[in-house]
Amino acid sequence: MNLNLPTAEPIARLIEEFSKLPGIGPKSAQRLTYHLLQAPADKAEALAKAILGLKQSLSLCSVCFNITDSVPCIICRDAGRDHSKICIVEEPADILPLERTKKYTGLYHVLHGVISPSDGIGPDELKIKELLTRFTDSTVTEVILATNPNTEGEATAMYLHSIIAPLGIRVTRLARGLPYGADLEYADDVTITRALEGRQDM
Ligand SMILES: [Zn+2]
Repeated sequence: MNLNLPTAEPIARLIEEFSKLPGIGPKSAQRLTYHLLQAPADKAEALAKAILGLKQSLSLCSVCFNITDSVPCIICRDAGRDHSKICIVEEPADILPLERTKKYTGLYHVLHGVISPSDGIGPDELKIKELLTRFTDSTVTEVILATNPNTEGEATAMYLHSIIAPLGIRVTRLARGLPYGADLEYADDVTITRALEGRQDM
């Protein structure tokens, strides 16, 4: 095998696959590919195994619908967490930035999307029925709406407020520290901490 041939099919294929990933342009894809090419075989193998393992061993938590390798997930089954609070997020990727702040010790619920009539997504397409079943005993006293601060995120928060508040549960929304149009997934720790601490009743 001649490693100096940049057009070798396996190289071109990996560059192409890398460049399909979010945040990775053609240059980064090329850099990653050549990095792997020079790395010891076991490193490349570890990466390949990690990618395969992602799809093979993961499922959704039956309680909060976060992605997990054990059901219920590590957060839902943690007795040390505050089970009276549920933070509602759009996607599984939104949980990690909130966890990184170490300021929130409650539970989560992942909607798997937002209400978006133009895309044909209504409440029934989201994990809202499943959320309501979590209120059947009186353990939950506060719901924190952490949908993204954009049109769909706000509309979803308004809808959730309209169905949860009548149940006698406190409904709060992350403070406006998050810039409008921002994506929780990419917000920094300080901004999220501030938004969490300054959450307001709806
Ligand atoms: Zn869970």
